[in-house]
Amino acid sequence: MTPRQPNTSFDQLLSQLSTRLINSEHAETQTCIAEAIAAFGAYVDADRCYVFEFSEDISSMSNTHEWVRDGQSAHIDDLQGVTSGDLPYFFEQMRRSHQFITNDVGQLPANAENEKAEFQRESIKSVICIGLVANNKLLGFVGCDMVHDTYQWSEEDIRHLSLVANMIANTLEREQTYQKLIETQRQLEEANSKLQALATIDGLTGIANRRALDEALEKEVKRAKRQRTGIAVLLIDIDHFKSFNDAYGHLKGDEALKQVADALATIMQRSTDFVARYGGEEFAVIMSTDSAWQALRKANEILDAVENLDITHERSDTDPYLTVSIGGYFEVPKADAEVAGTIQQLLNNADMGLYQAKDDGRNCIRFY
Ligand code: GH3
Ligand code: MG
Ligand code: MG
Repeated sequence: MTPRQPNTSFDQLLSQLSTRLINSEHAETQTCIAEAIAAFGAYVDADRCYVFEFSEDISSMSNTHEWVRDGQSAHIDDLQGVTSGDLPYFFEQMRRSHQFITNDVGQLPANAENEKAEFQRESIKSVICIGLVANNKLLGFVGCDMVHDTYQWSEEDIRHLSLVANMIANTLEREQTYQKLIETQRQLEEANSKLQALATIDGLTGIANRRALDEALEKEVKRAKRQRTGIAVLLIDIDHFKSFNDAYGHLKGDEALKQVADALATIMQRSTDFVARYGGEEFAVIMSTDSAWQALRKANEILDAVENLDITHERSDTDPYLTVSIGGYFEVPKADAEVAGTIQQLLNNADMGLYQAKDDGRNCIRFY
């Protein structure tokens, strides 16, 4: 066969494709690669044209794109995970020279017997494969088969297929970089949300921490001012907890803290309720409510729930079981009230209530 004349329309097509590829997103990229190999296949009047990608260590390869002339057999499905053990001569050539060009597969050397058998299976007479190289790394190859007759690959064919290979290699490299970027971004987001959670959740009890409480208080006070609704704050402190630790050990103490936190979370389940560990053995509850009575009712539920945990506390002067004291305060913030000052007042006054409850013998509720 005679080499064909330089083809300006192919050059034009290739330049259009590369322009599209520069601006393309993933789905469009795949279409462009398919169009590029179809264009090259049609240009050299080939029977098949395809792209393979190598594994990271170039020990195996898979067919990722395939164009076949009408009436020719397709092989993409049976050319997945082909190993260097399957085609050692081919892999060796690709690794060494980044290309594999044969005008007549019948002329391949004796040590290419696996390759000859494979080419025969696909009825291939002539084949050209050009490596996809980006940043000095061999990513795969683009190739072309002649099935009916042998074919003399021209310098022009090689130049054109090399252009296609360049284009695809750069695209694959960009896609890989993009995928890595997406993966890095995913990891960062995951790490970020873990940090976020750590920053707002108490490690021992799993409920909100002091920092989250401060944020919630600010949000609630602003909302209460806007909507002219009330806020109740309850401060809940475990009675004689020091002697509980002394009697049963710090681990039992931790266990009791978790149980109390769980009981609080179970009682305060409305979307407008907020429960946090305020400090050591002290918890805080914020309720958006229009009645101090409702807050008092909840405080009573909490008092009962903790006592009903039946956590034995033989050293308590108050009760043979673990109990809490609760200080409460309710207020409807004025529309022009200062936020930080209101928060301080809510906490201080609830604390006064708590002080009073301790003073009045513990295991009780006092509203200030
Ligand atoms: P009161 O009834 O007046 O509240 O007496 P109390 O013993 O509970 O109060 P005090 O403030 O004297 O002691 C609080 C104790 O809580 C001391 C500390 O060891 C214990 N505590 C604080 N944080 C933790 C914790 O994370 N785990 C355990 N196990 N104990 C804690
Ligand atoms: Mg305390
Ligand atoms: Mg205490």
